[in-house]
Amino acid sequence: MTLPLACRVGQGFDWHRLAPDLPLRLGGVSIDSPVGAQAHSDGDALLHALTDALLGALALGDIGDFFPPTDPRYRDADSALFVREAVRLLSERGYAVLNVDATVFLETPRLGPHKRAMAQAIAMLLGLPGTCVSVKAKTAEQLGPLGRSEAVAASVITLVGPIADDPASR
Ligand code: MG
Repeated sequence: MTLPLACRVGQGFDWHRLAPDLPLRLGGVSIDSPVGAQAHSDGDALLHALTDALLGALALGDIGDFFPPTDPRYRDADSALFVREAVRLLSERGYAVLNVDATVFLETPRLGPHKRAMAQAIAMLLGLPGTCVSVKAKTAEQLGPLGRSEAVAASVITLVGPIADDPASR
């Protein structure tokens, strides 16, 4: 049975352990913080969750399938690379991103002042208008590893849709 091309939803989640004196990048934005993410790449949990959401929308796998943390090419890599590759994989299959809604969990520093910059950076990365990207920030109410500032986490949902052009060009 062949299904018609339709909008598809994807979700992603990621978290990283925090440690002193490491850079903290979220949504491609550098955040001034005494702690940063421990990771093979730049540790951008928001862009990692976004990559998984994009891949998940078309059931293509997960970020580890495409960019294994054991691969030296991705050491300290800018995580925008992963998002761009996921978008390319979608576009190869005739799909484009319609919108993104994200929540970042970090106890401290407070991310409220950075929400807009993160949303704008993601919109730029995806080539979307700012009205199509939402980034929300929450603390964990001092509960668990997130609440003890031992980790940063991000949850992302996205909708992708078929590119409205000549189907023969797909
Ligand atoms: Mg990650």
